Amino acid sequence: MSSTHETHAVLVTRQRVHDVADAYDELEDRLLGDGQRGGHSAPSSRLPLDANAVVVRTEISAWATWCARAVMDYRDEAKQPWTPSTSDPAALLREIAEDHLGVFFADPVEAGEFIDEAKDFAGRAKSAAWPTGARWIRLHVPCPEAGTDDLGRRVDCGGEYRMWMQPEQDVLGDMVCDRDGTHRITPAEWQRAMRRRPVDEEAAARLVRTLRLGRMSA
Ligand SMILES: [Zn+2]
Repeated sequence: MSSTHETHAVLVTRQRVHDVADAYDELEDRLLGDGQRGGHSAPSSRLPLDANAVVVRTEISAWATWCARAVMDYRDEAKQPWTPSTSDPAALLREIAEDHLGVFFADPVEAGEFIDEAKDFAGRAKSAAWPTGARWIRLHVPCPEAGTDDLGRRVDCGGEYRMWMQPEQDVLGDMVCDRDGTHRITPAEWQRAMRRRPVDEEAAARLVRTLRLGRMSA
């Protein structure tokens, strides 16, 4: 599925599925406490898990399974069997969003239903995970910083950039590393750096898309 030929509805729906996955991770982080899944959320965003959040988390998990089942059935019928590479609901939803979303758009009536369902899930998942509306948006951009180990060898940070975004915010914040908060860069600086390395143009385009859709899908 080529991104240049995708309709607006597909792009928005893909972002919504990613939003559901991100919300699931946030709920999971809160349920398990700090550190167990890498601590994706900012301390300021962490709230006690309420009953609604637990219910929504369970629903997301069931929806991820349902989506995977639909893709598997579709691919079985097409004689191109597919097995998900993960059973983690968030990772499963991301895999489907990136590689298999076309399955849900093959039939116009089912597409309409899926668009509505994704919108509904994204709305409920986001308000359970981020009741105030403020949240970290994952940018899917690796942090380029590196440190040194005890022997002075270079060690890549391995983190990914994310951005803290609040409702109605019209100025973009810094891109901040999810492993080390001192690793940060403004979006303008990052785009200038990317222009000097044209090989990463696709990454730049993806970032712009994520930010734009991150707000649009709110
Ligand atoms: Zn970093």
